[in-house]
Amino acid sequence: AKAAGRSRIEVFDDALRERALSRLRTESDLRVALDSDQLFLVYQPIIRMQNGSIAGFEALVRWSHPERGTILPGEFIALAEETGLILRLGRWALKEAALQIKDWRRRTGRDLFVSVNVSGRQLMDDDMAAAVAQVLGETGVEPRALKLEITESLLLDDTARCVQMLHDIRKLGVRLCLDDFGTGFSNLSYLHSYPVDTLKIDRSFVRAATAGDRRAEIARIITMLAAALDLEVVAEGVERDAEAAFLRDLHCQYAQGYFFARPMPPEEAERHLLVQAA
Ligand code: C2E
Ligand code: CA
Ligand code: CA
Ligand code: CA
Repeated sequence: AKAAGRSRIEVFDDALRERALSRLRTESDLRVALDSDQLFLVYQPIIRMQNGSIAGFEALVRWSHPERGTILPGEFIALAEETGLILRLGRWALKEAALQIKDWRRRTGRDLFVSVNVSGRQLMDDDMAAAVAQVLGETGVEPRALKLEITESLLLDDTARCVQMLHDIRKLGVRLCLDDFGTGFSNLSYLHSYPVDTLKIDRSFVRAATAGDRRAEIARIITMLAAALDLEVVAEGVERDAEAAFLRDLHCQYAQGYFFARPMPPEEAERHLLVQAA
């Protein structure tokens, strides 16, 4: 083989060089993607447990790469964060989601929200609240129809600064959701000072529900905590009937997961809305 006779160091160097090159390629591809509409959003229904109706959707980014096909966020969000491209990506996603809400409202008459993921890097950007305000102004979307999902662990980095930013954003009327709740070593004594509306139970606790795993108790506690603090609660990653039943028993308000529906393109989401409206 080609590597025969070469030192392990040389082979290792090759591997590193290949990885660095691949990152560079992805970075420059991502710039092109942002300039040429290769990113798109898919929407996963968030269901009211009470009656099975669609309350809203979570928007999830996808990349239609000209050579590599559809790429999932797990392969490019981290890089976007490291390179700062997440700021452009984040603004694009917010505006795209806002326009989608307007469009669905007009075409289906349905009252619904769309939840958009926000990365820590965006929250640390001093212009974040202004960027949200700009999207509201440009699209005319009703602020409360837009939700931002923030991962709990982010808030632990620079708590005071993040919390101030969240207050500034929430003053605009946009709602906030703490994502992956329960995984971030939450400092519960801070929870009341976070200006959030919704807790999203991480899917690991949902999965535990039917596995005889004691972590299922965490799902119960989060649901009770939400009720006590007058917050909404969503369970994510629901894949089985038994998980849905468990959550219903807990009086968890909203749920989301493959059991109900996968993330889908907007046209398909609209069909679901129209069927339910009829
Ligand atoms: P997340 O915010 O926790 O989103 C939920 C992920 O779980 C999504 O993966 C979704 O497709 C997947 N999922 C939904 N239902 C189920 C289920 O029943 N079982 C399982 N196993 N998975 C389920 P996806 O779309 O690959 O997104 C991964 C992560 O990428 C998201 O995790 C979020 O952190 C990030 N992300 C996605 N879109 C954006 C975005 O527009 N901006 C930013 N900053 N991050 C994003
Ligand atoms: Ca999320
Ligand atoms: Ca999540
Ligand atoms: Ca997650």
